Amino acid sequence: MPPPLNTIPARRGKATRLNAGEAIRIINTHGAQVVDTWAFSADDMGEFMSMEHIRPTLGRIFPTAGDALVTNRRRPILMFEEDSSPGRHDTLIAACDDYRYGLLGCTDYHENCTD
Ligand SMILES: [Zn+2]
Repeated sequence: MPPPLNTIPARRGKATRLNAGEAIRIINTHGAQVVDTWAFSADDMGEFMSMEHIRPTLGRIFPTAGDALVTNRRRPILMFEEDSSPGRHDTLIAACDDYRYGLLGCTDYHENCTD
């Protein structure tokens, strides 16, 4: 039986609980839209995947397939197993948020990845 397929609506988020050894596949079906990704330890939400810790651990700013993605405690939390995207994976630019859209001129709430 294939794993369940969950759709992430545009401008929205989805959370999935993974146990050690389980995997998640993210498929972008609508072109080049960015998919911001977070990972938190189920045992302690204060431990989370951290780009500022991933960069020095890898020694570069673009993670690639085969890399372990680490937490703010420098422990692996996700393994980046496969990559079929045509571009690089950014670790520098913060996920979009309502404040960013405000700076871009939005005067009402704007859906965003951070929320
Ligand atoms: Zn976003």
